[in-house]
Amino acid sequence: MSHPLTGIIVAMQEELEVILQSLVKERTVQRAGMEFHVGHYADRPVVAVICGVGKVNAALCTQILISEFHVQRLINIGVAGGLGPMIQPGDIVIADSLVQHDMDLSPLGLPKGQLYRLEVFDFKTDPHLLELATQASAQIPQHKHFVGRIVTGDQFVANPTQAQQLYQHFDALACEMESASIAQVCYLNQIPFICIRSISDNANTGAHMDFAEFTPIAVANASTLLQNMIPLCDSVPHVV
Ligand code: SAH
Repeated sequence: MSHPLTGIIVAMQEELEVILQSLVKERTVQRAGMEFHVGHYADRPVVAVICGVGKVNAALCTQILISEFHVQRLINIGVAGGLGPMIQPGDIVIADSLVQHDMDLSPLGLPKGQLYRLEVFDFKTDPHLLELATQASAQIPQHKHFVGRIVTGDQFVANPTQAQQLYQHFDALACEMESASIAQVCYLNQIPFICIRSISDNANTGAHMDFAEFTPIAVANASTLLQNMIPLCDSVPHVV
């Protein structure tokens, strides 16, 4: 049986290392300063890549995965800052919706986060991939998992006032720096996309210290989920 090609995109080296441990690599291709690792993960064909931190890196990388590698679906995993009182480091947040929190055309009358002349406010993740990510996370009951909105901006949020505002204004469970831009590129190309983030910090005053302490744990959690999820994806409809 031939399986569709899955793109796996992460922002940081630490996030790729655990994936590479289980990736049977066939070749590495360089594009735009990024290394695309082509191979098999859990016996399914994948291209795994570090896009770098931030929205421009993430968008560029996503378009290369789609245009040059012809991935048929895309999974973003990584770490994120938790928002709201119930989310703690180590928990997993699976995005059902993504918004760029630093997009602000409010002087022109648009709500914060709304992109100019785009018919949607938020980018919804693929419902099938969302269902499978939820099933895969249920296989690791030692971690709490949540499904909800993740917000993205070109800022490391380490401020309780801002974290509270993002939580309240966008009804968001986590903040990070890549996934809404990946979602935008997938939306424009009509490629199914899911984002799975494990919480490394609470986006508050101590976020940089928690980030350093919890990132290894969070990365391991997200990668366990990915390993459970990839085989489940065989049943998912995909672009051909
Ligand atoms: N490791 C880098 C910095 C990474 S920036 C260094 O030390 O140089 C933070 C990364 O983790 C981004 O990829 C972002 O998506 C995610 N992230 C985790 N916590 C975050 C937070 N509180 N605010 C924004 N992004 C966060």
